[in-house]
Amino acid sequence: MTGNFPPGAELHQPADRRAVWVRRLLDITVRAPTLIACELTALGLLGCWAISYALGGAAAFPPHWYYFVILVTAIRFGWQGALSTALIAGVLAGPLLPASVAAGTSQPLSDWLTRAAFFIAIGQAFALFVSLSRRSLTEEIARLRVERDVLRGLDLGEFRIVYQPIVTLDDECVVGVEALVRWNHPVGGQLEPTDFIVPAEASDAIVALGDFVLEETCRQVARWKTTALHGIQRFHVAVNVSTRQLEDPSFRERIAAILATTGIHPAWLHLEVTETALIADFDAACARLSAIRQLGVRIAIDDFGTGYSSLAYLHRLPVDVVKIDRSFVSGLSDPGRAHVILELITGVANRLAATTLAEGVESAQDAARLLELGCELAQGFYFDGPLEAEAMYERLMAAATSRRDRARS
Ligand code: C2E
Ligand code: MG
Ligand code: MG
Repeated sequence: MTGNFPPGAELHQPADRRAVWVRRLLDITVRAPTLIACELTALGLLGCWAISYALGGAAAFPPHWYYFVILVTAIRFGWQGALSTALIAGVLAGPLLPASVAAGTSQPLSDWLTRAAFFIAIGQAFALFVSLSRRSLTEEIARLRVERDVLRGLDLGEFRIVYQPIVTLDDECVVGVEALVRWNHPVGGQLEPTDFIVPAEASDAIVALGDFVLEETCRQVARWKTTALHGIQRFHVAVNVSTRQLEDPSFRERIAAILATTGIHPAWLHLEVTETALIADFDAACARLSAIRQLGVRIAIDDFGTGYSSLAYLHRLPVDVVKIDRSFVSGLSDPGRAHVILELITGVANRLAATTLAEGVESAQDAARLLELGCELAQGFYFDGPLEAEAMYERLMAAATSRRDRARS
């Protein structure tokens, strides 16, 4: 997906352009055909020998120009190329080069052996440096491309939201939805979040994308509020939030502004954060989440149980909903470990007065066991997969009709 730029497109920031030029220079060196690169290396080594000889030998002028050839081969061929070139250079600048051409004296053994050792050591160090910087440079370029691609996609309206119903386990009533983003990419086709969220999280594009998801979802729920959700008191919409969004100092204000413009009750908005997003700087993340929670927004811990030391910090987290990761839920048919862990998580969440929501419920058996364990809410293919906005609207309308029928009878 990172290669999906329109041909000839330019990156705008000067730092981006610099990175592209460095990469192009590296590309030219690296892309030279192997035969031509080998011939140029041989020519370079012979040229160095010829110059040293012409200047009168090693005593008249120490043959240090071999370093240039060794460093270029380190870029082109890596450590193996640098080693072979350094060994050949060591021989050419050693036994094959007199100390003085005029006097016909040869160099002392220790002199040329020391020089050969330097050729090898410096060539190897440079090859290592090149391989490390090439890797980080490639990652940097990939990050810049995803960032620009996401921003372009947002401008062109290529992203949309699908909604997965969240139901009560006891009577399977729809009490919420999770907003999940999808990308209709012009080249890559329909992309799932796993294809682009992680690369986007490495750049500021995730902040723009997160804002779009939050705003679009709140607008959609505001539309449903006047139709399919009319008169409903208990409902929530869960929106996934990345670490970068949380770290953005203006995030809280933007949430408040979106709630104000769409008229969504703050308690209807649940922000889902993963354990991993919190661990890096736990205290700061707690403070930010508490500030957001003061708006009346609820906080859900997503994929719970997949991070580290969950139980150690859970009691300090401002948390309203614990979303049990599907790896524990789908392991339910095995009455062993997964069941014990699940029992533990639901117990802890209940003690903390947090609502438990099980993700990835795929069978009636899973649903029944979760209910037995005291889990309140669930989400999964057994009930519904993610639905397009229109299909979700139909689902909510059907739920409203059956509610009305139940109330009448
Ligand atoms: P998540 O928040 O844990 O979302 C649940 C994922 O599980 C969704 O995948 C959903 O389609 C899938 N799922 C639901 N029920 C079942 C089931 O019964 N079985 C199985 N096997 N899977 C089920 P999706 O939509 O591909 O999203 C993957 C992840 O991408 C999400 O995991 C979330 O972390 C991230 N993501 C999605 N949308 C956004 C977004 O707008 N912003 C951010 N930051 N992340 C998002
Ligand atoms: Mg989620
Ligand atoms: Mg999850």
